Amino acid sequence: MADYDYDVLVIGAGPGGYVAAIRAAQLGLKTACAEGRETLGGTCLNVGCIPSKAMLHASEYFEAAAGGAMAAMGIKVKPELDLPAMHGQRKDAVKGLTGGIEFLFKKNKVDWLKGYAQFTGKDSVEVAGKAYRAKNIIIATGSSVTPLPGVEVDNDKGVIVDSTGALELAKVPGHMVVIGGGVIGLELGSVWRRLGAKVTVVEFLDQILPGMDGDVRKEANKIFKKQGMDFKLKTKVTGAEVKGKKAVLTLEPAAGGDAETLEADVVLVSIGRRPNTGGLALDKAGLTTNQRGQIETDHDFRTAVDGIWAIGDVVPGPMLAHKAEDEGIACAENIAGLTGIVNHDVIPSVVYTWPEIAGVGLTEEQAVEKAGGEKGDVKVGKFPMLANSRAKTNHEPDGFVKVIADAKSDRVLGVWIIAVPAGTMIAQAAQAMEFGATSEDIAYTCHAHPTHSEAIKEAAMAVTGKPIHI
Ligand code: FAD
Ligand code: NAD
Repeated sequence: MADYDYDVLVIGAGPGGYVAAIRAAQLGLKTACAEGRETLGGTCLNVGCIPSKAMLHASEYFEAAAGGAMAAMGIKVKPELDLPAMHGQRKDAVKGLTGGIEFLFKKNKVDWLKGYAQFTGKDSVEVAGKAYRAKNIIIATGSSVTPLPGVEVDNDKGVIVDSTGALELAKVPGHMVVIGGGVIGLELGSVWRRLGAKVTVVEFLDQILPGMDGDVRKEANKIFKKQGMDFKLKTKVTGAEVKGKKAVLTLEPAAGGDAETLEADVVLVSIGRRPNTGGLALDKAGLTTNQRGQIETDHDFRTAVDGIWAIGDVVPGPMLAHKAEDEGIACAENIAGLTGIVNHDVIPSVVYTWPEIAGVGLTEEQAVEKAGGEKGDVKVGKFPMLANSRAKTNHEPDGFVKVIADAKSDRVLGVWIIAVPAGTMIAQAAQAMEFGATSEDIAYTCHAHPTHSEAIKEAAMAVTGKPIHI
């Protein structure tokens, strides 16, 4: 250790990096974490998961009051929007949680190196003009918004914005055009629709939410349409011009054809995110990126260079905070000589709309493909939320649970849910799959009544054709 400053130096304090740093310190390793932002917590806590959920939660209440859901339960209210106060509670949530990470760093004796780190060698970096050597360096630099050529984001002007700008709009736009029908577009589009904006989603593919189960994508599209969102599928945006306080977008069919224009008060560019490796001087460490700009690692999170590790959005896999966190823990444990493992086959994903959309494991399409294209090798059980007593009583009829199992072994391969608390319900499915459960295991597990989770039991029962309530 003599000539090393640290056992572990983590670059980036997002959910991957800060969690890795805390676990490394807990395991007795001398640890530092470099972070250039003014606050810890990365994209997730500062401009991602947390502020978006603060706006989603608040706008959900607003819509429940304004849109009649409360009236259906005998509560008559006429809400008034106080947008600065709504933004205030968002900022409070971010401040509280990012400050919490600073507290945890102090508690665990993790040194926060304030500034952006750059490699100067295989085991050395420079941060804010100071040089540091570390036995192990973990790259956890996360990701940033993918730009769309011809559609220039300017969050300060507030006309063409990315997710960070869309979280902070000073007023509710008359018409918001969302480019990209993925997770960010649907979550932030929902926020502003609930608060009064007309929202049009322009999606390049023939359906929203790529990567999710086909039934889920179709049903979600139906639900969002019913809520008042407009969709232009199989359409690409080829240009944007800002004229005063409005933007005029040029749209073309994805397969080519006549262009049309669309005027918007606010345009949200949400076509994906790309890994942050630009400022790292990776060449000084002898590292390169793959074609997608990601840093490749082995199953233990080792890069091609001994002593350098990588986790989170900067490596291949879904760009999700909980995936980054689990990789952070496993990576630190591997550095400490333990056995850190992440089961990448069981990473749940959740879209925090109303209702929520969640999934874990294989989609039906993937399961069939994996079985060699034979539909009979995969069994599917589905149960509608309309037949779930709790959802029905709560006036939450939309959605379903779908359990996909191997036809021979009955082992659960995937679970997909559209239901108001789908994000909470999916944990049960993930745990069952982690334990190698069969659909029968779930079907014979006693579920409390009346709960939305009973729909998971019923969908599992439906795998063998024996649900009770449909
Ligand atoms: P990040 O969180 O991106 O953190 C990386 C950090 O590294 C940043 O703070 C950056 O400043 C720092 N950094 C970069 N380069 C350097 C350098 N050279 N030196 C020092 N520091 C550096 N995921 C979910 O699971 N659930 C959600 O609900 C969710 N909602 C989201 C909503 C939005 C609007 C967005 C944009 C993302 C959302 N995500 C969500 C995705 C989630 O934020 C990311 O998957 C997660 O933050 C990735 O964690 P990370 O640690 O890999 O990187
Ligand atoms: P995304 O990959 O989820 O969706 C992008 C969408 O844009 C896709 O549907 C894609 O087909 C479409 N698209 C791409 N280019 C286009 C173009 N030129 N014109 C029209 N459509 C186009 O990306 P995102 O919504 O920007 O989110 C980025 C990442 O952040 C995701 O990987 C996601 O995992 C993460 N995130 C997660 C959550 C969550 O877990 N709840 C919330 C927000 C973000």
